Amino acid sequence: MTDLNRRTVLAGGAAALAGTAALSEAAEAQVGVKTIFPVGQTTIPVVGITEVFPVRRIYCIGRNYAAHAIERGSDPTREPPFFFQKPTDAVQVVAIGTVADHPYPSLTKNYHHEVELVAALKSGGTNIPADKALDCVYGYTLGLDMTRRDLQNAMGNQKKPWEIGKSFDHSAVLGPIHPASKTGHFTKGAISLAVNGTVRQNSDLTKMIWSVAEQISKLSEAFELKAGDLIYSGTPENVGPVNKGDILLCKLEGLPDMSIKIV
Ligand code: MN
Repeated sequence: MTDLNRRTVLAGGAAALAGTAALSEAAEAQVGVKTIFPVGQTTIPVVGITEVFPVRRIYCIGRNYAAHAIERGSDPTREPPFFFQKPTDAVQVVAIGTVADHPYPSLTKNYHHEVELVAALKSGGTNIPADKALDCVYGYTLGLDMTRRDLQNAMGNQKKPWEIGKSFDHSAVLGPIHPASKTGHFTKGAISLAVNGTVRQNSDLTKMIWSVAEQISKLSEAFELKAGDLIYSGTPENVGPVNKGDILLCKLEGLPDMSIKIV
């Protein structure tokens, strides 16, 4: 068995153990097939078990706190949520109790932090009603939707895709996943981010315009959600720039802290 096939089978085993849907068709097709070179499956540690969470897609919701919507120049009323994606290999996992080195990316001169709650799905579907949506959630973690703000703004001004501002290497920072069976679902609680000891973002999950359940419901109207999907649920106000040497400390009531150093 090649390394790739072993990884694929292991990922399938983890999904089966988590009681999830079958592997994607693409992953299924790989089992027993010899690839011309190996390509890794992104996985995230799960607190308390040895099996890991296999990442299928990363969705991010934009402007989901009213005060942040205003600072980004949009109307904070309950317009339908909008979404973008990051590639799965943009994930940087930060172990609990560590300060992970995070590389300042190329091309930008205005690199921003966005602290966010992240939901990890164990199942999915289409047109999922909001009152059933939390049944799809395997667990939660803290995340950073790191953003090349200058490039995001420049592309937006030209009515071009945001890709270069949002979907680059290491841009999806997050901690290990905490099973909802242990933590419960996150519908309220303080969320904050400090840079070098100074609090920059400070809000509460109750201020999200669209709850995680509503995000899943709305997303599932546009995409078939599946086990392995991650959803970054939006950032509160006071996003801002970071520089090399800065230490970022993220907090969410009910989870361990997460910290990175910009290098
Ligand atoms: Mn964001």
